[in-house]
Amino acid sequence: MGAVNPAAVITDEWLRARTKPVGDCLVWQLSAAHGTQPTTKIGGRKGPMVLVRRVLWQRKHGQSMPRHVLAGVSCGTPLCVHEDHIVAIDRKELPDPAPEPPLNPQLLHAIGEADEPNEVLAARIRSTEAGVAALRLASAWRAPIHHHAVGA
Ligand SMILES: [Zn+2]
Repeated sequence: MGAVNPAAVITDEWLRARTKPVGDCLVWQLSAAHGTQPTTKIGGRKGPMVLVRRVLWQRKHGQSMPRHVLAGVSCGTPLCVHEDHIVAIDRKELPDPAPEPPLNPQLLHAIGEADEPNEVLAARIRSTEAGVAALRLASAWRAPIHHHAVGA
């Protein structure tokens, strides 16, 4: 059905072309959600956006990274995507849970327009998947309201 398996696309060779070795680390050279979570489109420009670390973790462990954990790195190198450095961080162990972003028209518009999965959008706007889902709902409710002038 044309679905692309990210783990099949992100090969060692693919990674080498998009990273720079720094010490033991492989530093991602392309875009990153919020400057911290390496992201890429899979299967061309129209393809889905994925979080590179999550895909690599999945490739190494043979299972999807659980939804309640975040993909971090043990080395502390920003944008490192070395598969041996990628660790699952339980959100509950984070010192400060990400606050829900305030609702504002720009944010709602951005969420309404975005075609990224919730987890990618959440990383970009520093929210949680549940937060993004709630915002998407709010944005959908507000989208197409047409006012008709009454008695004008
Ligand atoms: Zn590293």
